Amino acid sequence: MGAIEDSSAADVVTMDKIVALCKRRGFIFPSSEIYGGVGSTYDFGHYGVLLKGNVKSEWWRAMLQERDDIVALDSAILQHPRVWEASGHLAGFTDPLVDCKTCGQRFRADHLADLPCGRKPSKHPGETDECDLTGARDFNLMFETTIGPVKESGATAYLRPETAQGIFINFKNVLQFSRKKPPFGIAQIGKSFRNEITPGNFIFRTREFEQMEMEFFVPPNESQKWFEHWLTERMLWYTELGLRSDHLRLRAHDRDELSHYSSGTSDVEYLFPIGWSELEGIANRGDFDLTQHAQFSGEKLEYFDPQTKERYVPHVIEPAAGADRATLAFLVDAYDEEVVQGEDGREGAGETRTVLRLHPRLAPVKVAVLPLVKKDGQPELAHKVYEDLRARMQAEYDEGGSIGKRYRRQDEIGTPWGVTVDHQSLDDGTVTLRDRDSLAQDRIAIDDLEAELQRRLAAPWQTPKLKR
Ligand code: ATP
Repeated sequence: MGAIEDSSAADVVTMDKIVALCKRRGFIFPSSEIYGGVGSTYDFGHYGVLLKGNVKSEWWRAMLQERDDIVALDSAILQHPRVWEASGHLAGFTDPLVDCKTCGQRFRADHLADLPCGRKPSKHPGETDECDLTGARDFNLMFETTIGPVKESGATAYLRPETAQGIFINFKNVLQFSRKKPPFGIAQIGKSFRNEITPGNFIFRTREFEQMEMEFFVPPNESQKWFEHWLTERMLWYTELGLRSDHLRLRAHDRDELSHYSSGTSDVEYLFPIGWSELEGIANRGDFDLTQHAQFSGEKLEYFDPQTKERYVPHVIEPAAGADRATLAFLVDAYDEEVVQGEDGREGAGETRTVLRLHPRLAPVKVAVLPLVKKDGQPELAHKVYEDLRARMQAEYDEGGSIGKRYRRQDEIGTPWGVTVDHQSLDDGTVTLRDRDSLAQDRIAIDDLEAELQRRLAAPWQTPKLKR
């Protein structure tokens, strides 16, 4: 197959196109839709579950499988209320809120210039004389609930606003049972909840989301070294999974942005259609968290080194990422449209196709098996090929509609390879193997298919968008 020219050298992606594709192909839809929706919460459909699941397993792979100094944890969402006193969330996990007495809407005071106003012609809150904004006041982002059946006498509890505290309060347990000593890490993936004042931009900022956080405990004098180690590692994770490096950057926090206990924080930022925005925060948190929990709980949260006979509170390096935000970044980076070039007769020549150029390891479905026509024994053979492949990888069988339509559908969900069974397959046991990105089609023996797909899946991959 010949070359493909791009419909445009520029990036064609917009947030609206991503939202539409996610809805059309069943990745992600607004939650409670039949009741009119509920602000900024989303449900993940079949392909969305598979895609986000792959993002999370790649994170686990990097944390657990590819190194031996990190262990896993899954702590409870509901924790003792004192946890949030010790962590500082009860007093300080707030955003500045302003009310507009004219339109009745509420806004984050530090985002006014980026937010739409409740009334025209004013574009942003506070822009016209009619806007009547109150002064800013602190609004705590934690969702409150009650433990026990009686609201009045039950204990007030909070849905966790981050997964990290579940790690700190288990430091002693893990130290005892994991046979690890600093430097070592504890990693966790799970839901977090924040009553964001102005959520938005699809799944970029929602009130319920999944975090992927790791706390790396180190001897105090090694903290800067490990901070730099994790900056490099985390950037590599994104680029190895295909994010374009020119759309990714590290931004060090200014002094006035730093939390009082942090001696360094850098954000991994991605160039979304809404501009450069945080994907992940990497912080050198010192001994703040363990010291606070030791003080509030009365437990000793420290490490005794039997060799040096030294006792110390480890310092913590924290890479804190969002699974939903990362999924959005991978979707945005993968989205592409192109006019397929070539003489008449080539598959789809002259048509514009939409394609998700996802890294094969992230793609929800790895291979689609398609009979060319729905007769002459082709569906039966194709189904047999599909059954063999699905034992090894996420596969799909599709016999409905024209072959062109079926390819387009797979392109839109990012399936990297298509196997087509045709009349020749029944004669000589070969099939065509189509590549999503290049549209190259190779004839290959059915017996060699699985090994070839495994080989391709393990090979390094780079987005063709980078070659433009
Ligand atoms: P932001 O400045 O965007 O509010 P943050 O600095 O408060 O984020 P952290 O507390 O560092 O975020 O959380 C770590 C990661 O969790 C973020 O980098 C992001 O990927 C994810 N995250 C945080 N809040 C949300 C949210 N409301 N919706 C989706 N993901 C989120």
